[in-house]
Amino acid sequence: MKKFALALLATAAALAQTQVSAEKEASMKADLKGQIDGMKKQAQVMVDSVFSFGELGFQELETSKYLTGMLEGAGFKVERGVAGIPTAWMASWGEGKPVISLGSDIDDIPQASQKPAVAWHEPLIEGAPGNGEGHNSGVPLNIVAALAVKKVMEREHLKGTIRLWPGVAEELVGTKAYYVRAGLFKDVDVVLFCHVASNLTVSYGPSVNQNGLVSVEYMFKERARTRRERPGAGAVRWTRWS
Ligand SMILES: [Zn+2]
Repeated sequence: MKKFALALLATAAALAQTQVSAEKEASMKADLKGQIDGMKKQAQVMVDSVFSFGELGFQELETSKYLTGMLEGAGFKVERGVAGIPTAWMASWGEGKPVISLGSDIDDIPQASQKPAVAWHEPLIEGAPGNGEGHNSGVPLNIVAALAVKKVMEREHLKGTIRLWPGVAEELVGTKAYYVRAGLFKDVDVVLFCHVASNLTVSYGPSVNQNGLVSVEYMFKERARTRRERPGAGAVRWTRWS
């Protein structure tokens, strides 16, 4: 989380081309670390609260209500239902460039209900959805990073805009393309997206295994022909895969 906040601050400074001495930069980083350490309890409460909601894709009602409430309480402006998706939102604070956007997923997995900190299968509610990945922690930790950077930006009078958004229905590959199509990233300089997986690895950039496809449908139409025109041809004139 500290690294994420430092990346956010470094990106803000680099994009704004703010001239900051090495000494000043070091003191801002130290300040950030202190801010983040001071939010340990808040981070734990947010991560556990979102874990407890256990909501499937497009049904992240309590999760979104809770996270947007946190952000509004911290002075962010929240637009709900963005891109026509009821549980999606965009939270924004600050003004001007650079515009830095932080995202992470929030939906859960069917039948993955599980008691926290139990190393064997023991559902909270048998058959209910739950957190099969770290989707309960991504946005809470983005919030911690954003709040820490916001404090430093306010104190140092740094210009820039921080935006936070949820990956709604990520397990269904449901929304990110719609966000782009709705123009949610049009004026954004950089997106820092974080996916918390089970193996604590990090990666960035394009990858052959990071594409999602729900289904594809091809339809072929052809003129009906007689068997004499095309020996072996059957009577089927429409073929379809999905
Ligand atoms: Zn995931």
